Amino acid sequence: MKVLNYILSGFLALSFTSCGNDWLDLESSTEIPSEGSLGSLTDFQYSLNGIYSAMQSSDGYSGRIVYYGDVTADDIQAASATKRTGSYYLLKYTKDNAPSSLWKIPYQLIRNANIILEDIDNFPETEATKEERSDIIGQALTIRALALFDLTRIYGYPYAKDNGASWGACIVEDVRTIDSKPSRNTVAECYDAVIKDLNEAIPQLSPKFNFGKLNRWGAMLLLSRAYLYKGDNANALKVAEEAIAGAEKNKYRLWSNEKYPTAWADERSASEPGEVLFEIVNTTVDSPGKESMGYLCWRSGYSDMILTSSFFGLLSEDPDDVRNQVYEIYKAKAYINKYQPQKGENPADANIPLLRLSELYLNAAEAAVKLGNNAKAVEYLDPIVQRANPEKTVKDENITLERVLNERRKELFGEGHRLYDALRNNQTIERKDVKIDAVSSTKHLSMPDEAKKFDWNYYKVVLPIPKFEIDTNPNIAAQQNLGY
Ligand code: CA
Repeated sequence: MKVLNYILSGFLALSFTSCGNDWLDLESSTEIPSEGSLGSLTDFQYSLNGIYSAMQSSDGYSGRIVYYGDVTADDIQAASATKRTGSYYLLKYTKDNAPSSLWKIPYQLIRNANIILEDIDNFPETEATKEERSDIIGQALTIRALALFDLTRIYGYPYAKDNGASWGACIVEDVRTIDSKPSRNTVAECYDAVIKDLNEAIPQLSPKFNFGKLNRWGAMLLLSRAYLYKGDNANALKVAEEAIAGAEKNKYRLWSNEKYPTAWADERSASEPGEVLFEIVNTTVDSPGKESMGYLCWRSGYSDMILTSSFFGLLSEDPDDVRNQVYEIYKAKAYINKYQPQKGENPADANIPLLRLSELYLNAAEAAVKLGNNAKAVEYLDPIVQRANPEKTVKDENITLERVLNERRKELFGEGHRLYDALRNNQTIERKDVKIDAVSSTKHLSMPDEAKKFDWNYYKVVLPIPKFEIDTNPNIAAQQNLGY
């Protein structure tokens, strides 16, 4: 009997996960067995719905893929060792027990995106179908790029460490046969593939608001982020500027200072999309359940993760910064309050904003600083600083990289960024306690010294390839991350 490795088993897994868990209550594909069976644009839309439904899993973009990037670094920690995020925060994973979902779910997405992309090649393009067909292709390419990007940053070292020479993920751009045993590509090759897919997707994607789905502005945010991670600052700035202008022409706006504390709970709409360029939409009848960010962060839910005392000190250095209103202090611990349920929902049903306009401003500011363009750095950093506290401005300041990165921490905490932002800038992650009365019960848990302070040279900044994949694919078995 042949055993399917994770890279190949995506479609089967999708069939299970989407049963009774229909994306937005729309019909999604649960039984499309193989490529070659999608015959109408409606079929393609259903298949896309199935992919978004797979993203929605709490092992995926409603939970683990997001919190992994936070609790492994210095701004967020598990509230105790027995919490769900505990073993990630303590970096306790080994090659035998490391979670498979961070590998498996992105490959489900890639495999299903590939089925759509192969089948739509055979679907006639006419005047009547052109626009919708292009948008479907654009979404499938963007999902494939997002999945490969996340695989690359979870399993591969930062590009800047060795110019992308180390192993990233496996680039899979077709629907593989059962005998296929892909090998890992380098980080550089993975970035090239991500950037190529996004550049191909962007002109095909609709610029219009598409509730719970990717559009042109979400794809452009991802592209600016990929360029920034790769150190291509000129392109990172260019794409971010174009995306900000384009998104704002299509009614996207940074949330105002007044709205910021509660805007997370808004129902986004075409007339008022706010600043969320892409989010996972969860509802009471289609909920990822209690392992989702909403319930994990809620102090009366699993109360799983909290702000570290050192990050609390950074964020609260300006008590009038509005971002102090998106955590809640309870028994001297600060709980993230960004995953707010929409009206009438339970905390577990909170939407997950994955791509926000704020990040585009921060991407542009960071790229501008690295290019030595202070005027542009001020132009894009100032709206974030002023929104946080209208009394503050960075006009007339000489913006440093540290200034932008600290603003990025304050803006994006709890949204899955910090580990990668620190590492790609060759910063050292340090877990140290700061004495602050407001969070006096917040202390780092006991951990080995190597987990208390590390940089991109520590082998645990990348996860090991999961055991099952190693056991079923000798090519990958020969390419396990060093140290595991
Ligand atoms: Ca919701």
